[in-house]
Amino acid sequence: MTTDQLFELYERHLNPSLVALVKFMGFNAPEATAEGCVVRTTEGTEYLDCLGGFGVMCLGHRHPKVVAAVKAQLDRMPLSSRVLFNEQTARLAQLLAEVTPGDLQFSFFCNSGAEAVEGGLKLARLATGRTRIISTENGFHGKTLGALSATGREVFRAPFAPLVPGFSHVPFGDADALAAAMSDDVAAFIVEPVQAEGGVRVPASDYLPRVRELCTRHGALLILDEVQTGLGRTGKLFACEHTGVVPDLLLLAKALGGGVMPIGAVVGTPAVWKSLEPNPLLHSSTFGGNPLACAAGIAAIETTLAEGLCERAATMGELLVTKLRAVQAEFPQAISDVRGQGLLIGVEFTHEDLAGLTIAGLAQRHVLAAYTLNQPTVIRIEPPLIITEAQADQAVAALRGAVAQTMELVGDIEE
Ligand code: PLP
Repeated sequence: MTTDQLFELYERHLNPSLVALVKFMGFNAPEATAEGCVVRTTEGTEYLDCLGGFGVMCLGHRHPKVVAAVKAQLDRMPLSSRVLFNEQTARLAQLLAEVTPGDLQFSFFCNSGAEAVEGGLKLARLATGRTRIISTENGFHGKTLGALSATGREVFRAPFAPLVPGFSHVPFGDADALAAAMSDDVAAFIVEPVQAEGGVRVPASDYLPRVRELCTRHGALLILDEVQTGLGRTGKLFACEHTGVVPDLLLLAKALGGGVMPIGAVVGTPAVWKSLEPNPLLHSSTFGGNPLACAAGIAAIETTLAEGLCERAATMGELLVTKLRAVQAEFPQAISDVRGQGLLIGVEFTHEDLAGLTIAGLAQRHVLAAYTLNQPTVIRIEPPLIITEAQADQAVAALRGAVAQTMELVGDIEE
């Protein structure tokens, strides 16, 4: 199939306006193969992946240990009978209980981040008997109806109103605002430890501890959405470990499948899980917890720990931020901030169009990048945690070149 034929199929059968957007960003070649931090097109052009599938690729593409685990399971039994017990599902739940903090002990498995959010919201209602949910402005929790009700960006919400009742939003990082909104009828506060799609916002270190205290005081559950921050991305296996805060429900997806399988998880405490006892089928999913995805999940966690990738994310993150700040110093009129935690890094531009043009410039230099969904002035740098120093230098050089080109272009237009 030629590239033009492929575009036409996307236009005719998938999402016509997305084709225009992706082409505008400069990504006008079909992908064919991928390995580690590199994605290859059908014509053999190699792109350095600094997007990581929106946070999926902590281990890079096709990590051999995850691929081997999935292949072995494929030859045994890919999907579950759904009535017999399955060892892979049980082992992943056990491993999650071991590696998550505090008394998080039980898991419900699903297939995506939004589904994990839905599960968390339903469990919060069930366990508390309350219906009010507080979330944060600019937070991103997915686009299914319940998750969208928690997501804090009007452009995604308004076309689908009315959403699920009982949701309200407070500014992120502001524990006083939460204190003012909190009351004894709140089922849960759902929040990301670092707002990823909101523009890579890292809150002050006392924010989550204060949030935890407020939730406990009012009998509300704390749901930490670690769909994007989980599995080593921020320099710890879970971002909540930076502050020692233990949530009542921890939500995972994206990197949990090791970059090979889709899987999501709601991990909760015995106290929350008690509410499911009267009826084990209150919440369920046909594909959730399938052995193929769980084999990938086990391999993903074991590999992340065995290869020291949390520590690597912390070191490489610091290195990248330092180098990106040097680019900021060179172009202060274009870049207003560089921030992040581990390898979840945001480069904030002074104007959305500058970010857009820079993404296209990165594409020309064969680097994959994108802006954050709720904050188009911010380009996220979210490469696999296995990125090498040489690849980090390549990314920084490409960004520098792309920003220089953008500023020349803007200068020409202004003249
Ligand atoms: N929660 C967070 C923090 C996310 O970043 C995302 C996706 O970007 C989601 C939930 C939704 O995940 P999914 O796209 O798998 O439904």
